[in-house]
Parts: sequence; structure tokens; C-alpha cells
Amino acid sequence: MARYTDPVCRLCRRATVKLFLKGERCYTPRCAVERRRKPPGNQPMRRRRTSEWGTQLREKQKVRQIYGVLERQFKRYFDEARRRRSTTGPYLLQLLETRLDSVVFRLNFADSRSQARQLVSHGHLTVNGRKVDIPSYRVKVNDVIGWKETSKKTGYYVQMAGEIPKRPMPEWLNLDVEAMAGRVLSLPDPSKIDNGVDVRLVVEYYSK
Ligand code: SF4
Repeated sequence: MARYTDPVCRLCRRATVKLFLKGERCYTPRCAVERRRKPPGNQPMRRRRTSEWGTQLREKQKVRQIYGVLERQFKRYFDEARRRRSTTGPYLLQLLETRLDSVVFRLNFADSRSQARQLVSHGHLTVNGRKVDIPSYRVKVNDVIGWKETSKKTGYYVQMAGEIPKRPMPEWLNLDVEAMAGRVLSLPDPSKIDNGVDVRLVVEYYSK
């Protein structure tokens, strides 16, 4: 299973915005974007006007990096979304949000999508009572995402379960705190997804 393995803070510095790829650290002054506002590398900063294509490319990369999806897989999501024609952009976001790793992150079972991906691929999570270790697994309405019984004995689980009631959760998910299981109430409304991306630019990028 291919994934990006280089330092993720470089991606934020390249995009010159916070992509929130590291969980707690992203909200502290230790965030690399807070400390160093210039892009990675030793070259002096040059003032360059970004072309229209460059802006679209940058936005596409941003969406891809936020969800931790490699290029080929991202293109497959886009091709699937494009079949919806008029709602390509919103549907693309919906496809990405309903990946199991993203849902695990939204349920606050993990601090970041990369941590959620690791939890899923290490087999700690279940969907409707059955172990699922595929981060790209697409959840459906009424699916219940829970924890494997043996995973509930880990130190990570105990600490996470203690902190979770304080955290906000999107309205399309519902968490049973006792059972530590989340139910998908509906598909996410793309207009309420708070990841700060302009998905219209992604559609324009692939429309060239
Ligand atoms: Fe990005 Fe988080 Fe690293 Fe800051 S700490 S640069 S937001 S990944």
C-alpha cells in the first residue's frame, strides 16, 4: 500500500498554509508554518506571480495531501466524481470524506488522518462488527464504526476514550460514547466540510 513517507510539514510549507497533517502539534507554536513562513529549501524567496494553472495545481495538491491520497488514486476519485457532471467538485469531497480513515479521524479516534490510517491498516477498527483494515474503504449510511475488542485494552484506546467526549464532531456522524462506536447518519454535506479548499479549482485543473 503506497503512501507519502517524507516529512509532512514540508507539504504545508510548500502550500504556505496549514494542512493540519500532524494532529495536536498543528495547533501549537511548534507548527512549522508558524515558525517558518517561507517554502522549504535553501533558495532565497523570489516573488513570482503564480499562473492560473499553478493555482489550480496547488489546490489539487492541497486536497490530495489533506486526505493523504496518492496521485493515481486521487485521479480515480476524480474520474468517478466527474461522472456526476454538475456536482463533480462536491461529490469528489464526499468521496474523500467517506473513506474509512477520514471517518475515523472525524470521529476523533485519531488526531490526524495519517494516524487514523495507521489505526485502520493495523486492524484496530471494525465496520458493522467486522474488522476492516483498508483505509480507503468507503463507508455508507447506517454503517457503524467501532473498535476490535482486543484493541480496547491498549493504552492508546484508554487515553483516547477518556478525551473524546470533549471534542466536536460533524453532524453527519453520531458517536455512542459508551460503546465507542460511531454511526454514519447521512452522507456529508460538501458545503459544510471545513477543510478550507476550493474544490472548483481542482475541477478546472482536470478540465484542461
Ligand atoms: Fe502542517 Fe501541522 Fe506540520 Fe503545522 S504542524 S506544518 S499544520 S503538519
